[in-house]
Amino acid sequence: MTSKEINIIGGGCAALSLARLNNLLPKYKFNIFMKDQHQTIKDHYWGFWKFNENQEAYDNCSHTWNNWAIITNKSKNVLNSKKHPYCVIKRHKWLDFCLSKFQNKNVRVFNKKISEINNELSDGNCKINGKYIFDSRPPKIPSNILLQHFEGYVVNSKDEVFDEKTVVLMDFRCDQSRGLHFIYLLPFSKNTALVESTIFSKHVEPKDFYAKEILKYLKKYYNLKNFSKSNHEKGIIPMHNFSLKSKDRHNIGTRGGAVRPSSGYAFTFIQKQVLQITDQLILGRKINTNIHNKVDLFLDKIFIQVIARYPQIAPTIFSNLAKSINGDEMARFMSGNCNFKTKCKVIFSMPKLPFIKSFFKIMNK
Ligand SMILES: Cc1cc2nc3c(=O)[nH]c(=O)nc-3n(C[C@H](O)[C@H](O)[C@H](O)COP(=O)(O)OP(=O)(O)OC[C@H]3O[C@@H](n4cnc5c(N)ncnc54)[C@H](O)[C@@H]3O)c2cc1C
Repeated sequence: MTSKEINIIGGGCAALSLARLNNLLPKYKFNIFMKDQHQTIKDHYWGFWKFNENQEAYDNCSHTWNNWAIITNKSKNVLNSKKHPYCVIKRHKWLDFCLSKFQNKNVRVFNKKISEINNELSDGNCKINGKYIFDSRPPKIPSNILLQHFEGYVVNSKDEVFDEKTVVLMDFRCDQSRGLHFIYLLPFSKNTALVESTIFSKHVEPKDFYAKEILKYLKKYYNLKNFSKSNHEKGIIPMHNFSLKSKDRHNIGTRGGAVRPSSGYAFTFIQKQVLQITDQLILGRKINTNIHNKVDLFLDKIFIQVIARYPQIAPTIFSNLAKSINGDEMARFMSGNCNFKTKCKVIFSMPKLPFIKSFFKIMNK
């Protein structure tokens, strides 16, 4: 393979988001190796706040909201932003959009599983080599790390109970005994919503735990007992900074550290990462896939330590956060686009003692 070839491993968010930009790199030939047709992975929604880097996803998204709420037993804070609405796009819709950008004959797709033996990648017949290899195979999740695990489904009810103008980003009025736990609710209409039970902890719960929590929540806060369920979703996202370094290739997506460790959000960061790589290729610069700044990663480390040790203070942390910044600032903060002033506001809104203790614990490691 020549230096003018770009080999991309995987057929998910990072791989296809990068490959869709082939038109910006007409001098390169793209080879994409995906284990299976991307449609075989169950469909789900990706949520993100609108910014320039995800403009194409915004153009293809299914729903947007200008308001989002953070609710605890003691408070309800609704933030809003006209400039940076909260949006969702379906996985298959985005990946099909990316595939639709492969019209040019410079892109070849191979439905092949790539295996790694002694640090070398192979499709079973040939070695994958060349100057540019971008690998998005899901990384092995280390044991004993904080995970974001969630399950949910779309609720269809005859009753008009949902406020279709406001996303419930986090509602902590649910069982807090297993770790940080909240309900995430995307109201698609007055009687349809995606409802998920999400936990940040080191252990995944039995399947019926999430479903029971959703039932209790819908009954208690929406007086909903009769409804149908569709589009089940579940996932496990490592809340961890993957800094996998591989000789002779570049890691992208979850494998390449795109997941923001403190939130599990990755979609926007993946878009930033693939745009950064494309710019570097156009300018002939060294490839650097780092997408989060070092200060953010350090603060995330402290946050994760706090959540792992004191999950019971999570509702206070998030309600303080929602009180201390406005919607635009929160959208920027969650998307890695905020300035120093906003970062300071967030830091000063946090409960001091647990954060100071966790800071020293990390420094002494
Ligand atoms: C259910 C779910 C919901 C999520 N929701 C959000 C959200 O709302 N907002 C957000 O910002 N983030 C979200 N995330 C996190 C993140 O955006 C996704 O995990 C995202 O898909 C990561 O992209 P990726 O390319 O790294 O991995 P993936 O999209 O999982 O792609 C990995 C690809 O590698 C392929 N592959 C695996 N092994 C091989 C092999 N040996 N050879 C070749 N190909 C291989 C797979 O088939 C797959 O195509 C969510 C994650 C999950 C699981």
